[in-house]
Amino acid sequence: MATISIIIPAFNEASNIGALLISLFKVLQPIRHEFEVIIINDGSTDNTAAIVAELALSYGNLYLIDFSRNFGQQKALRAGYDHAKGDAVICIDADLQNPPELIADMIEKWENGYEVVLCKRRKGKQQAGYFKEITSRLFYKTLNLMAEGNIDADTPDFRLIDRKLVEIIKYLPEKDVFLRGLISWMGFNKIVLEYDHGKRLNGKTGYSPIKMLRLALTGITGFSAKPLHFAIYMGLGISILSLFYIPYILVRYFSGETISGWSSLIITITFMGGLQLFILGILGLYLGKLFMHAKNRPDYIIRENTYKPALINQLSI
Ligand code: UDP
Ligand code: MG
Repeated sequence: MATISIIIPAFNEASNIGALLISLFKVLQPIRHEFEVIIINDGSTDNTAAIVAELALSYGNLYLIDFSRNFGQQKALRAGYDHAKGDAVICIDADLQNPPELIADMIEKWENGYEVVLCKRRKGKQQAGYFKEITSRLFYKTLNLMAEGNIDADTPDFRLIDRKLVEIIKYLPEKDVFLRGLISWMGFNKIVLEYDHGKRLNGKTGYSPIKMLRLALTGITGFSAKPLHFAIYMGLGISILSLFYIPYILVRYFSGETISGWSSLIITITFMGGLQLFILGILGLYLGKLFMHAKNRPDYIIRENTYKPALINQLSI
């Protein structure tokens, strides 16, 4: 018999957490392993933390890690991995979009020797809405174009990983990690299960468009330096084009033609200005990443922890 940890990031999930735990424990009950469930309250403004603390009194294996503010789902998951002591760790959303029933299959695959069990949203049955659909597809396309490793599209943070991977994540000095990418980068024996991604039970998504963009940029800049190459290629391309343009301008000048250049001038200036700012932005993103690493602040701060303290990467108050 092994121990399996379930980690659940929760941001304003007071209306879902009770229902989730009921279906979760129903699924876990017949499975012959020991379980621990850790809910990471990611700075909810509703009473998620209070509800979990109360439920923890009746469930002996339910724990609460309460963040001091909203640090984001990735950091909440990282805190889960830092603390969990299971031989395998499963993460699942708190809003019941990921069916807990799949956990039995995930564990079975793990027992059969798979070290990573990913869950992929089945095509054609998306219920997340049109906007989410398009942005998500665009994100994975860009990411795979940029990233060196191949990141499985449509596999949200609903997966099982073996202890070996958890140990690597725990001791990785990298901050602000994009776990999906990191886990595919790590390799190991992997299998992908398909599932129907449901509608969130109650409440609304914790991912505003800004948060989504931030996650996308974390993913892309965290995995490759290719955007920087793009800056060089664009710069080089435009320099070469201008080399052809210069003789043309000179010929026109010496042949005495008056140059009515306002439109072309404005187009060039705005285009070049935009491009330069864009490329500066890319540089800035990487510089920002270095800056954050140099400051070496923890990825998250814990206000209260009903679980045993982790050794690293946290600042418990
Ligand atoms: N979440 C979190 N911190 C955040 C945003 C979301 O811990 O800042 C949690 C949320 O409670 C849920 C999971 O991450 O358990 C997925 O988030 P959500 O359902 O809001 O995103 P969506 O499914 O719309 O992509
Ligand atoms: Mg959701």
